[in-house]
Amino acid sequence: MQNDVHSTPSLAEAAHWQARDLAVLWHPCTQMREHPDTLPLVPIHHGEGVWLVGMDGQRYLDAVSSWWTNIHGHAEPRIAEAVARQARSLEQVILAGFSHAPAIELAERLLALAPRQPGRAPLAKVFYADNGSAGVEVALKMAFHWFRNAGEPRRTRFVALENGYHGETLGALSVGDIPLYRRTYAPLLSECLFAPTPDSYLANDEKDAESLALAAADQLATLFDRHPGEICAVIVEPLLQCAGGMRMYHPAYLRRVRELCDAHGAFFIADEIATGFGRTGTLFACEQAGVQPDFMCVSKGLTGGFLPLAAVLTTQSVYDGFLDDSRERAFLHSHSYTGNPLACAAALASLDIFDADDVIARNQATSAMMRKRMSDIARLPHVADARQLGMVCAFELTRGGDKKTPFDPALRVGLRAYRAALARGVILRPLGDTLYWMPPYCVDEAALDLLAEVTRHAIVEATACA
Ligand SMILES: *Cc1c(COP(=O)(O)O)cnc(C)c1O
Repeated sequence: MQNDVHSTPSLAEAAHWQARDLAVLWHPCTQMREHPDTLPLVPIHHGEGVWLVGMDGQRYLDAVSSWWTNIHGHAEPRIAEAVARQARSLEQVILAGFSHAPAIELAERLLALAPRQPGRAPLAKVFYADNGSAGVEVALKMAFHWFRNAGEPRRTRFVALENGYHGETLGALSVGDIPLYRRTYAPLLSECLFAPTPDSYLANDEKDAESLALAAADQLATLFDRHPGEICAVIVEPLLQCAGGMRMYHPAYLRRVRELCDAHGAFFIADEIATGFGRTGTLFACEQAGVQPDFMCVSKGLTGGFLPLAAVLTTQSVYDGFLDDSRERAFLHSHSYTGNPLACAAALASLDIFDADDVIARNQATSAMMRKRMSDIARLPHVADARQLGMVCAFELTRGGDKKTPFDPALRVGLRAYRAALARGVILRPLGDTLYWMPPYCVDEAALDLLAEVTRHAIVEATACA
């Protein structure tokens, strides 16, 4: 019974599963040639809270929340129970022509929690998809299609941010700007306009984060002026460009995006797939700017990290733009597992936990504990920058310890730090030479002490090569 939580893992068992894995599996976001010598492959036996336990019995602190999905801890009993209960009653039903209580209730609750801006009609409709990239595709297609239906077929262009990330499918990749993921597929991608990032990384005494954000917004304004009547939507990751290296920016930028979209008649799409559900300190990042987007995409933390599900929230007026006698004017997009009942049940249980455990308030204390430990790490040589937004901390490692002299990428300092941390029982998964902490919210003081201690060791070990 290898999957029994009570069986005792062993080294031999870990090796056995690793060999079987390498015989048949092709892993995501991985140069498979690096497994297992350069890049360890760790078969996991079970999870519990912030911990993942390997088949070899080693415990790992999941400091990346399993690709930013897990928020309340692994195998959270209340979510596990809700999924099990739902599985015994209705596991899946076609969502065209049919409906079910979890999908309806979840839509009601998401809309009630969505960001509101005085004077704007609230987000009023929910369209489901089954992963983040698919959610982004839905928002892009809806925005584009809405203008066709409205008799404005010239509005075909999207504006996205430099260094932004919105997923891996071709449409989502088209609005992404991470060269490593994008470059190879560039000939297949549709054209997108990129606006400079409002990133506050290079802020200093003369230029603070807000001035950098406003200068970037001015360039967005110029882009609008150059393409009158052509832009159908601006898509951004609010406040935090995650895959782009956990880069953070000032909320003033989002207010300008909202104003510019309104002034030029374009939609504002907020990709809250990574930032949503408390990660940046508020339930949604847009709240910190006091703005309400026309489309909000959520996924990742939506189900507490249990099951794939995405939701796209939009306005009544977007919805109304598709009402017609013609089927072609309808939004015919669909996925087989749209609004899956198990995933919706997990999401409802996750929202219950936000209420029952007062998660957003509790996170303020946890976030302060993270900040304290972050400032110790910030003092290490080679740490050029340490920054925090809510439940995310990030560290930039550079050769000179300043922002201008990076390590030679061939040294793979980030990968060295990854291996050093893994050997000490912590899962850090750096983005290039950017280390970050993005733990499940149930992380406690003792786990944070270990995280800080191991991060310090990993940085010292990894940077010793230079
Ligand atoms: C992860 C992510 C996506 C893509 O979600 P998947 O479920 O991995 O397809 C889109 N946007 C942002 C901001 C993300 O972080």
